[in-house]
Amino acid sequence: MNLKDVSTAQLARIGFMAKRSRGNFIDGREVPALSGKTLPVIDPAVEMQIADAPDSDARDVAQAVASARRAFEDSDWTRMRPADRERALYRLSVLIEEHGDELSAMETLQSGKLQGVARMIDVGFSAEFVRYMAGWATKIEGQTLDSSIPFPPGSKYFTYTKREPVGVVGAIVPWNFPLAIALWKVAPALAVGCTVVLKPSPETPLTALRLAELALQAGIPAGVLNVVCGGAEAGAALSRHPGVDKLSFTGSTATGKAIGCAAVDNMTRFTLELGGKNPMIVLDDADPETAAMGAAMGIFFNQGQVCAASSRLYVQRKIYDKVLQRLAQLAEGMKIGSGFDAASQLGPLVSKRQFDRVMGFVDGAKAEGATVLTGGSRALDAGYFVQPTVFVDVNPGMRIVREEVFGPVLVAMPFDDVEDAIRQANDSPMGLTASVWSQNLSAVHRIVPRLKAGTVWVNTHNLLDANLPFGGFKQSGMGRDLGRTAVDSYTELKSVCMSI
Ligand code: NAD
Repeated sequence: MNLKDVSTAQLARIGFMAKRSRGNFIDGREVPALSGKTLPVIDPAVEMQIADAPDSDARDVAQAVASARRAFEDSDWTRMRPADRERALYRLSVLIEEHGDELSAMETLQSGKLQGVARMIDVGFSAEFVRYMAGWATKIEGQTLDSSIPFPPGSKYFTYTKREPVGVVGAIVPWNFPLAIALWKVAPALAVGCTVVLKPSPETPLTALRLAELALQAGIPAGVLNVVCGGAEAGAALSRHPGVDKLSFTGSTATGKAIGCAAVDNMTRFTLELGGKNPMIVLDDADPETAAMGAAMGIFFNQGQVCAASSRLYVQRKIYDKVLQRLAQLAEGMKIGSGFDAASQLGPLVSKRQFDRVMGFVDGAKAEGATVLTGGSRALDAGYFVQPTVFVDVNPGMRIVREEVFGPVLVAMPFDDVEDAIRQANDSPMGLTASVWSQNLSAVHRIVPRLKAGTVWVNTHNLLDANLPFGGFKQSGMGRDLGRTAVDSYTELKSVCMSI
């Protein structure tokens, strides 16, 4: 079977052919964009259109925000017993699992990712994460505090804080983990009683729309979760809308800055999860085989389209050649193909735009004098496939070392002195993640506090947990997703002072 037949068979299998033209999901109903405009959804493995979704503008966004506002003010959702909100979210997690086949096939069709990754992360982790956040619905708490207010003499006060839902949340998300990252925003927002307007990436709207249907099925009232599809125009309209109380964004640093500026204009609260150019530091006591496997996983997982990817590899000189030799061997042995082929280890990039961007970086690095250790070209004749690529002989000023590629492209550099590795690792405007590979506990404990990154892994890379906050230092963002910290970020803190 050729790749086109595989995609068509998968479309038929999930019964998707009948509903190729999708609408926005507003107030519990699917509606087209008011302009009637649409954007194609493309299967990047075969460059074939599989669906279309609305290309929304400010008027569609206004409708969705109005729906979320009505639901926030009038529906039962916000006033519901926390235990009932917990139950509804729990039902949603079960529905995500029950529809795991369909959702994971949709993710592979619209983004090209491997089925195994779609099942493990976009479905499995998502369902688990919704359950984790469901649990927080019943655990929101304030504090009672002792006060020292002296007026009028002899008076007494009871002072306490309480957390209340912030209101209408605008969630703007990227295409690399479409369902999972949407839920990083939606699940904590719903757990505390907020309502949401979700804007998925134009490349990957299908699972967000299916999520909204499943939420309704789980008993989450109409208007609580709205989905507006489209690109930058819809995203900008949502970030400027004065009816949005909190914006939660994951995407590129440039877009994040524009959203932050728009948010400040309205004093809208915001969380930004942005790009990364993440260092992996391997000390010379590490096992070269383990380090090479770790580096390969860290950069080639999801075709390198991972904000946390280990895209800068620093290896201490004594084991540099061994690690690089093995890494090149692993890269060359990777089977490249359709995400639906269980043997595939690397799928296509998400879009022509991303393919051109990644190949632009690769060609630019060659032109700047970097040496291709392995890869460096397109793979397969059709589809947006790029070979797993490792560059050596790079210097710290090169674009390939400084800028996020968001593809299966790694730069590797040897170091002699650990101090120098730390300095180079921190020599970046970004600060999302980093990892240290060594068996020397003292060395690790000395290095971890000095790395300017929101997450530091030791002898692993790219692992997330629902309970562990995730976000960036420096230009990698503001605020955190995941964990208790994220829950609090969808609340306002109210102080109450009662004269008794
Ligand atoms: P992007 O910034 O181009 O788009 C992200 C979202 O913002 C999309 O929904 C897009 O339609 C929307 N958008 C675009 N322009 C907008 C504007 N002017 N105003 C409002 N919204 C706008 O990013 P992308 O290409 O979709 O995703 C890749 C980027 O996301 C990478 O930089 C990656 O590092 C980052 N990312 C970060 C994390 C994290 O948690 N830190 C996770 C995944 C991806």
